[in-house]
Amino acid sequence: MPSTISATVYHNYIDGRWAPSASGSTFENRNPANTDDLIGVFQQSTRRDVEAALAAAASAYERWRLVPAPRRAELLYGVAQMLVSRKEEFARDMTREMGKVLNETRGDVQEAIDMTFYMAGEGRRMFGQTVPSELRNKFAMSVRQPLGVCSVITPWNFPMAIPSWKIIPALVCGNTVVFKPASTTPLSAVNFVKVLEEAGIPKGVVNMVTGDGEEVGTPLTTDDVVRVVSFTGSTHVGRIVNQAAAPGFKKVHLEMGGKNVIMIMEDANLELAVDGCLWGGFGTTGQRCTAASRVVVHEKVYKPFLEQFVARAKSLVIGDGLRDETQMGPSNSEGQLNTVIKYVKIGRDEGARLVAGGNRLTAGTHAKGYFHEPTIFADVNTRMRIAREEIFGPVVSVMPCRSLDEAIDIGNDVEYGLSASIYTQDINRAFTAMRDLYTGIFYVNAPTIGAEVHLPFGGTKHTGNGHREAGGAALDVFSEWKSIYVDFSGKLQRAQIDVESL
Ligand code: NAD
Repeated sequence: MPSTISATVYHNYIDGRWAPSASGSTFENRNPANTDDLIGVFQQSTRRDVEAALAAAASAYERWRLVPAPRRAELLYGVAQMLVSRKEEFARDMTREMGKVLNETRGDVQEAIDMTFYMAGEGRRMFGQTVPSELRNKFAMSVRQPLGVCSVITPWNFPMAIPSWKIIPALVCGNTVVFKPASTTPLSAVNFVKVLEEAGIPKGVVNMVTGDGEEVGTPLTTDDVVRVVSFTGSTHVGRIVNQAAAPGFKKVHLEMGGKNVIMIMEDANLELAVDGCLWGGFGTTGQRCTAASRVVVHEKVYKPFLEQFVARAKSLVIGDGLRDETQMGPSNSEGQLNTVIKYVKIGRDEGARLVAGGNRLTAGTHAKGYFHEPTIFADVNTRMRIAREEIFGPVVSVMPCRSLDEAIDIGNDVEYGLSASIYTQDINRAFTAMRDLYTGIFYVNAPTIGAEVHLPFGGTKHTGNGHREAGGAALDVFSEWKSIYVDFSGKLQRAQIDVESL
């Protein structure tokens, strides 16, 4: 291992101060395209650090909740402007630690910018309702109230976008936050939190603690102080989080795994569909919760589709995401690469036909990174594990179908329900599929990825637990309703009892 002596040491951010963990321990963050490149050393935090962060957040909440929402929003507009000015720098840091290509990390920072501008606008909206009372001289309305301290636990695949989807709406609603980023992308978390600090978010309102999922995550999901847990990650850990938070009746918002499908009908524009499958399947090296890991193709166009898809996948340039020519970067970590390798073996053993890729890349510029070929299995059926389980890597399963009905059945035949899409020229089929796919997101003539921040984002079944982030729906996670009645009649009026004759 190369020396770590000269590496930058990054700290936790608690109560407005950057400080080391009480543990005295740290962990390294390395570039997945070249593991000789040490990005930095980060705090291996413990329960004590989390408790200090939660105490700071609880104390800051009493002041922050009383700051008028339009004033909170002004600070957030400043955050958005600072993100704009540092977009390129942050994108480069992100590619170095996460691996995806520079255009995609620019998109990741842009998503944080979009979300911050959008949510800052909520500071002057955040509408409630006013309704007529059933009694005379009585006023009835509802208002959104903050909940208190929110735990924000995030994955590594969107290192700035996903934290922003949670932290920014939490703040505009008047909550305070303790943020635990994924351990392979802590630099992007530090970059984001520094912007919040520099934009003037008061001390204690946002706190960040890095470290191991279980050690840091457990108090964030169980401590009495926490009122909301907003988690994005695997379904496996989401279940642990859900169970940990249940005894305290915390509000738990979970965004979890996916096994998304693109359906291609015989009347589809095939070239467009191939473009969509390449972007959906191999964009972000297949490491998107919305990645199109299944493609269901009508038997009449199955062969020509497959030929074009395989040829295009084989021509993708794999490498360091910071290089201009690179079209697909490495897996984010050794563990993630091993999962890909494991599932390629499972696919072969299950009898799926390997038609592209299938191997780790280890020669030349790939020698020091977690690179894998874009991989396509054909003739996959719904019983195979590669068609059912989330792989989170550059592996796509192609399955034939005879009709739209069959495509929809295959599409729905997984435990997840995040995103689906159809390629067809037939509006009747498009609307049928739009209605019948049991997912939170649906696309027509576009791949399964491409969400915009002003519409709700999330999934059904084992992908989510009924909440949505982004759009106005995010406010429902980070606020709760209070109904208020103001009686200005000067006498006791009993609802449902004092019914006045007209
Ligand atoms: P992960 O579940 O391994 O980790 C997610 C976060 O949870 C990390 O910060 C991790 O440290 C933390 N964690 C681990 N154990 C914990 C525990 N016991 N208590 C509390 N926190 C704990 O997921 P990952 O590998 O970082 O990300 C990949 C997964 O995220 C994929 O399944 C992907 O589909 C999913 N994802 C979902 C969405 C969505 O919106 N639905 C978006 C992006 C990623």
